Amino acid sequence: MKGAVLVVNSGSSSIKYQLVDPDSGDAVAVGLVERIGEPDGLITHHHRGVERERRGPITDHARGLRLAFGMFAEDGVDLATAGIAAVGHRVVHGGEVFYRPTLVTVEVLAEIRRLSALAPLHNPANAIGIESAMAALPDVPHVAVFDTAFFHTLPAPARTYALDRDVARRHNVRRYGFHGTSHQFVSARVAEFLGRDLGELNQIVLHLGNGASASAVAGGRAVDTSMGLTPLEGLVMGTRSGDIDPGIVMHLRRSAGLDVDQIDDLLNRRSGLKGLSGVNDFRELRRLIEAGDADAALAYDVYIHRLRRYIGAYHLSLGGADTITFTAGVGENAPDVRADALAGLTRLGIEIDADRNAVRSHEPRVVSTDDSAVTVLVVPTNEELAIARFAREFAA
Ligand code: AMP
Repeated sequence: MKGAVLVVNSGSSSIKYQLVDPDSGDAVAVGLVERIGEPDGLITHHHRGVERERRGPITDHARGLRLAFGMFAEDGVDLATAGIAAVGHRVVHGGEVFYRPTLVTVEVLAEIRRLSALAPLHNPANAIGIESAMAALPDVPHVAVFDTAFFHTLPAPARTYALDRDVARRHNVRRYGFHGTSHQFVSARVAEFLGRDLGELNQIVLHLGNGASASAVAGGRAVDTSMGLTPLEGLVMGTRSGDIDPGIVMHLRRSAGLDVDQIDDLLNRRSGLKGLSGVNDFRELRRLIEAGDADAALAYDVYIHRLRRYIGAYHLSLGGADTITFTAGVGENAPDVRADALAGLTRLGIEIDADRNAVRSHEPRVVSTDDSAVTVLVVPTNEELAIARFAREFAA
């Protein structure tokens, strides 16, 4: 237990937590507090292979964390005295201020709250989680790790929207990028796995989960990414539209009479695969396609079409990628997505090996042929471990 890091990821009505050994990557305990603020709250807690549940109302985040700590106590672990090295907090938006993991102080917490204007669904919940955890564990360093940080190196042409510069500047409208902890972890892991110098690799990383994003990474630095001011831009996602013509927003406002909150809900929660097919889970989408559902088949084709566009764009903007890496729930587990995203690209030096691609594994692996000029990989992401390692650097 000594030296372990508690990783906390607070959402608007949930808290994910993990107690992880930052060296081995082993998770000692993993838990999820759900439906905070509702009468049917639920905590699911796994500790050394045993799963336990606790049901009942959870009034707020502070109470949720206290109850989770209670689950640890029932396991015989007192988090306050267990010798935890640090607590690492995932924070979604770091704005222009935070571009590296940061020790949380009163001022830092206030700044995270101030950035809520840019991430109204995420930063307030992140801040509440931090505050609650600091109250419960006041004697260990609390470290904020920002989803946007890895993308602070985006060159000006990649981070700038072609908008009126004064409006953009006044309202901090620019591309920030998200999922940065995953893109950074995976791109470093690729270099390590291939035994290559990170500094000499041009990489495309495809983080395909319920949220999805692509990045171009040159020499370990992010040079482009598909998410922008918010995590809504880019690839087709489980429930998010990704790229659309911004004119659609005005059209829906004027013609359908939708207000801003309704359009926000439409684009963030009722679009993407769910909007097109009725389901956002890729496994269910597969089942619908196999049952002959035409909407599900179209949803899949739109998903792949968008993905190929981004791969093509980044291959070109990198002046040729050395690697293309799939990660997260869909990227790691859906061989058909990998095969369809890269089908027919031998002329561009990209060739998948069908047998290698079909292998199921939780380990990093190459799925391209030996002749493929671009190495295609599957590398499992582990954002919690990445956060734990960042946080440990601040341990006393
Ligand atoms: P994540 O957000 O990284 O947890 O990824 C969630 C997505 O991964 C969901 O759309 C799941 O359907 C998808 N996923 C998980 N396991 C599989 C699998 N075995 N085959 C296809 N998709 C999967």
